[in-house]
Amino acid sequence: MLSHRSMYLRSLYLKQFRNYGEQQVEFTAPKTILVGDNAQGKSNLLEAVELLSTLRSHRTSRDRDLVREGSEIAQVAAHLERDLGAADLSLVLRANGRRTVALNSQTLRRHLDFLGTLNVVQFSSLDLTLVRGGPEQRRHWLDALLIQLEPVYAAILQQYNQVLRQRNALLRSQASQAIQEAAPPAPPPLSPAPNELALWDAQLAVAGTRVIRRRSRVLQRLAPLANYWHRAISGSTEELAIHYLPSVATAQDEPEIVQAAFLAKIKDRAIAEQYQHTSLVGPHRDEVEFTINQTSARQYGSQGQQRTLVLALKLAELKLIEDVIGEPPLLLLDDVLAELDLNRLNQLLDAIQERFQTLITTTHLGSFDAQWLSSSQIFSVKAGQLFPT
Ligand code: ATP
Ligand code: MG
Repeated sequence: MLSHRSMYLRSLYLKQFRNYGEQQVEFTAPKTILVGDNAQGKSNLLEAVELLSTLRSHRTSRDRDLVREGSEIAQVAAHLERDLGAADLSLVLRANGRRTVALNSQTLRRHLDFLGTLNVVQFSSLDLTLVRGGPEQRRHWLDALLIQLEPVYAAILQQYNQVLRQRNALLRSQASQAIQEAAPPAPPPLSPAPNELALWDAQLAVAGTRVIRRRSRVLQRLAPLANYWHRAISGSTEELAIHYLPSVATAQDEPEIVQAAFLAKIKDRAIAEQYQHTSLVGPHRDEVEFTINQTSARQYGSQGQQRTLVLALKLAELKLIEDVIGEPPLLLLDDVLAELDLNRLNQLLDAIQERFQTLITTTHLGSFDAQWLSSSQIFSVKAGQLFPT
C-alpha cells in the first residue's frame, strides 16, 4: 500500500462501457499492470478512469462511442480514498448524450462540482501528437490540465465557447443577409446587426480574457518543471522552453489590458471576419510552442527529442498537480513502454517509484524488470473481461 498522503483508487466498476459488459475491479497494489492483446479493452479501462477525472475523453467527444454497442446506457463508478476522506464517483452515460453524475450517491446538477475529486495524468503513446499535431491538440491538453488544477476553468471555457458559437452564428447570418440584400427585389431590412455584433465582441473579449490569463499562468508554472525533467532525461544537453502564443498577445496580463487588446484586434480583423464569416480572434486560435535549445521541437525535433519532451511534460504535470492539489495524482500509462527506450523508461519508473498510483497497459510483460513486476498487481484483459494472473 502507499505509505504517505495520497489519492488512491480502490475500485472501479464498468457496466456496458465500450466493450465491457459488467466488470468490477479492486486495486490492491500501488501499481496495476493490464496486459493483453490488441483490441481487448486495456485502453478502454484507462479511458473510464480519465472520464471520472475530467468528464472528458481524449479519444472521443461523443458519448455514443462510449456506450457498448447495442446498449443505450453505460455506467462508470469508482471508490476513491483521499486524505480528505473517501468518495464514491458515478457517471452514467447515454447514447443520446445525456449524462448523470453523482458524488457519494448524490446526483449533482452542476457537473462542475464533480470535477477535481479524482486527479489523473494520462500518458499514452499517441501523445507525440502533442508535439507533432495541430494547435488544437495542444489547446486540448492545456485545457484538460487546467480543469484538473482549477475545476472552475471548465465553466469558463464553456462560457467562452458558447459566446463564440453565438458570435459565429451571427457572422454567418449577416453573410446570408448580405446575399439576400444583393438580390432584387430587396427584402424588408432585417434587424440592425452591427450593434448586435458589438455586444458579442464585448462578451467574447471578457470570456476570452479569462481563458487567456489562466492558460498563460499555468504554462508559466509548468515550464520550469518541464525544463527540469527535459534536462535530466537528456543528460543536461538540452533546454526545453514553452512559449504561449495567444491569439491576443499583451505585455501585461491585467484583465482590462487584455480585454482592450482583444477588442482592438477584433477591429483589425473585422473585414477578414466579414469575408470568412467566422471569429478570427480569441483563445480558440491560441498556439503553444515548444522549443529545444531555441529550435522548434515540432518542426525540427528528432523523434527521440520529441519523446523526451512529452515525457518531461507529463512528469511536470504530475508535479504541478501534486503541488497545487496537495496529493499525488493517479498516473495512467497507456502503451508507453513500447515507445520509450530503456533510458527514458528507467527515468520514468524512477520518477514514479512509490509516489503515484499507476495503471499501466502493455501487450507483453517482457519490458518490465523483475522488481516492478513483483510489486505490481497484474490483470490480463480479454474481450472486455479482466482476469487476475
Ligand atoms: P491496443 O493494445 O491495440 O491498444 P486495447 O486493449 O487498448 O488494444 P481498446 O482500445 O481498449 O483496446 O479496445 C478496443 C476494442 O473495444 C475494440 O475491439 C473495439 O471494437 C471495442 N469497442 C470500442 N468501443 C466500443 C463500443 N462502444 N461497444 C463495443 N465495443 C467497443
Ligand atoms: Mg490501447
